[in-house]
Amino acid sequence: MITVNDINFKNQCALIRVDFNVPLDGQFKVADATRIEAALPTIQKILNDGGRCVLMSHLGRPPGNDNNCSLKHLLPTLNVLLGVEAAFVPSCVGDEAEFAASKLTNGQVLLLENLRFHPEETHGDKGFAQKLSKLGDVYVNDAFGTAHRAHASTAIIANYFPNSKCFGLLLAKEIESIAKVMEHGKKPVTAILGGAKVSSKITIIDNILDAIDHLIIGGGMAYTFIKAQGGSIGDSLVENDKLDLALSILERAKEKHVTIHLPIDTLVADAFSEDAQTAFFPTNEIPNGWMGLDIGPKTRAHFAEVIALSKTILWNGPVGVFEMEAFAGGTIALGRAIAEATKKGAFSLVGGGDSVAAVKQFNLSDQMSYVSTGGGAMLESLEGKVLPGVAAILS
Ligand code: AMP
Repeated sequence: MITVNDINFKNQCALIRVDFNVPLDGQFKVADATRIEAALPTIQKILNDGGRCVLMSHLGRPPGNDNNCSLKHLLPTLNVLLGVEAAFVPSCVGDEAEFAASKLTNGQVLLLENLRFHPEETHGDKGFAQKLSKLGDVYVNDAFGTAHRAHASTAIIANYFPNSKCFGLLLAKEIESIAKVMEHGKKPVTAILGGAKVSSKITIIDNILDAIDHLIIGGGMAYTFIKAQGGSIGDSLVENDKLDLALSILERAKEKHVTIHLPIDTLVADAFSEDAQTAFFPTNEIPNGWMGLDIGPKTRAHFAEVIALSKTILWNGPVGVFEMEAFAGGTIALGRAIAEATKKGAFSLVGGGDSVAAVKQFNLSDQMSYVSTGGGAMLESLEGKVLPGVAAILS
C-alpha cells in the first residue's frame, strides 16, 4: 500500500481529495473541525517535504452552485489549524482553478470550491475527472468518508495518475485498522453489534463470522434473536419477518465456533421516553406493555467479562437508546469496558455510525485504539465490499 510517506513531494504539487464535509453553524462557522484535523498529517507531510497542496472536497448536498455550501466558509478554520494562510479559488475546474494551481509555490495550500457544485462529480464523469487531474502532479486520496463512492474525485480521477497516486495517512490508517480486525486480529477477536435493526447488520454478520471468536449482540436488534428462541419480549423492537434469519445466524455462528452473547437482562420502560417508568426484567420474560431500551446490570457485567478477555475488539452500534440519559448506562458501561481492555493492550476499533457518536458523547474517543471517520465507508468495509476509492489507488 503506497502512502504519502513513500513519496518525496519536493517541488511536487499534490492534488488531495480530502473529506471536509463538516457541519457549519448559523454564521457559517465550522461547528466540528474533526474532519479537517484528520487531514492535517497528510498535508503537513507534503509541505514539510517542500511540496504544495491543492485540496478538493465536497460539502453537503448542494443542488448546484449554492453559497450555503461554499468551501470558502472553511478557510478561517483551515488557516488556524494549518498555521499557513491557504488560498481559495471559487471554482474547482477550468481556467480559473488551473491558473490558481499554477501560481502555487512550494509550502503553499490552495482550497478549491465545492466539487458537488458540478453534478459530474457524483456521476463519476470522466471528462470532469480529467479536468480535475490537471491541478496536480500526484493524486492523493485521504477521504475515507467518501471512499465507498465511485465519484469523479474519489475514484475515476486515479486513472489519470497511473504512476503517481497514493493513499493519504488518514485513509491508510482506516484501511489498516479494518485489516487489524478482519485479517490479522489477535485472538480472541470480539465483535459487538448493536443498533436498532437486524436487517441493517445481516451482511456485516455474514462477513465477520469467519474473522471472530465472540459476537456480542445488543440494542434493539437483540430482541429479534430472543423472540426467535421463544422468549417473551413485550413491546420491544422486533422484526417479525427476520425470526428465521436470526435462528439461521445462530446456527451458522455455532458451525463456525463463534460464541454468541445475547442480553440476559434488560432495562425496560413503559414508553419510549426519557421520563418513562422503568424496571429490570430477564430479557426473555418482558411483560406486554414494556419495551427493552437498554441492557441490564447482569448483561453489562457479562459483556465486560468477554471484552476483558479479548485481544481485538470491533464495536458497531449502541446497546441501548443512548441518546436518552435514562437508557445510556449500558452503552457507557460497554464503552468503559472496551477502554479498559484497550489500556491493557487490546486493539479496539469503533466504527460505522452511532457507536462513534456514543464514544464522542461519553468522552471515550481517545481511549479507543481507533475511531473511524467514515460511517457508510466503514459499514461497507465490514460487509466485505471493496471500496471504489481504495481500489482506484491499488489498481
Ligand atoms: P443503527 O443505526 O442501526 O446502529 O441504530 C442506532 C440506533 O439504535 C440508536 O439511535 C439507538 O437509539 C437505537 N437503539 C439501540 N437500542 C435500542 C433499543 N433497545 N430499542 C430501540 N432502539 C434502540
